Amino acid sequence: MLPNLKKIAWLRETSGVKCLLALKCFATWSVFDFMSEYMDGSTSSSLYEVRLGHEKFSGETHAYSVAYADHEIDQVLECSDKIIFNSIGQLTKFSHASRGHIRGLRVNPGVSTSDFDLADPARPFSRLGEHDPIAIDGVADQISGLMFHNNCENESFERFDEMLTLIEDRFGAVILKMDWVSLGGGIHFTGPDYPLDHLATRLKTFAETFGIQVYLEPGEAAITGAATLEVTVLDTMYNGKNLAIVDSSIEAHMLDLLIYREPAKISPNTGEEEWMICGKSCLAGDIFGEFRFSAPLKAGDRLSFQDAAGYTMVKKNWFNGVKMPGIAIRELDGSTRMVRDFDYTDFAAALS
Ligand SMILES: *Cc1c(COP(=O)(O)O)cnc(C)c1O
Repeated sequence: MLPNLKKIAWLRETSGVKCLLALKCFATWSVFDFMSEYMDGSTSSSLYEVRLGHEKFSGETHAYSVAYADHEIDQVLECSDKIIFNSIGQLTKFSHASRGHIRGLRVNPGVSTSDFDLADPARPFSRLGEHDPIAIDGVADQISGLMFHNNCENESFERFDEMLTLIEDRFGAVILKMDWVSLGGGIHFTGPDYPLDHLATRLKTFAETFGIQVYLEPGEAAITGAATLEVTVLDTMYNGKNLAIVDSSIEAHMLDLLIYREPAKISPNTGEEEWMICGKSCLAGDIFGEFRFSAPLKAGDRLSFQDAAGYTMVKKNWFNGVKMPGIAIRELDGSTRMVRDFDYTDFAAALS
């Protein structure tokens, strides 16, 4: 995690942007103290996330939700420094409740970098944010900021730059009336070849041109490569391919692999032996992927799935009653500390 956080800290210092951890993909609060040394605070997508950020992540706390319920709004306001509404309807509905609070509105610029419809905020008929500059201008006096979140796993600075220019052209007049703008998450600026200096310059120019404080809301960029899922082989079989069954499950522990039809990552993934790694749930397609090894796998072997921090711990579930993986922290000195383990009582407690 540290290399990512150092890049985030450099970007803040060089460009003047503030970086808030988006808790959506990673809400492992045991490491929030460490992360908060490199970041300005946290942002959220629900009442429980904003409360967690408020209680556990020092610095600023932004609240956002696709829709707030009447019974949530007071606590959301108590837990946040800023509240960002998803629609003009919600802004209007809660205008009295939120008076005196710093308020913003999510804007949907109609362009994005997602090539997977399910995760594309700019998909046709999207509910994620207001899109009409004239309508947004009509409520500009009630808000002091805007939030755009239209990048998704975007590794290309050029594409980011292009889309920011579109945002400037389409929404520049209303941005000029604002004090702050959040550009959301999804910018993979902690990747190995990302031109971080270009990003810093672009963000600084954007901030100066419009006289605003710029925020970024990195989630995945902060935690890329920062965790592994450690599993043990329980059994091996052969059915036209070498199969290894492990004490975990994609449906229960790495749900995104199932949703987005992607394989897990194993490193170095070389050698003569080819094996399909399978989960232990009853789902026939519960398969982590096919990988290469230097020797045949056998029961008791330990395997390590790489890059397992994002959308795992927040999406774990009790499907099939498969024991959840514990959460352990590897400290900077290399020592490991178990911070959470799960047992039967957690399974039973999650049900009734
Ligand atoms: C998902 C999300 C983020 C974080 O996105 P990453 O891809 O994890 O960087 C930030 N802001 C909003 C509004 C989001 O929905």
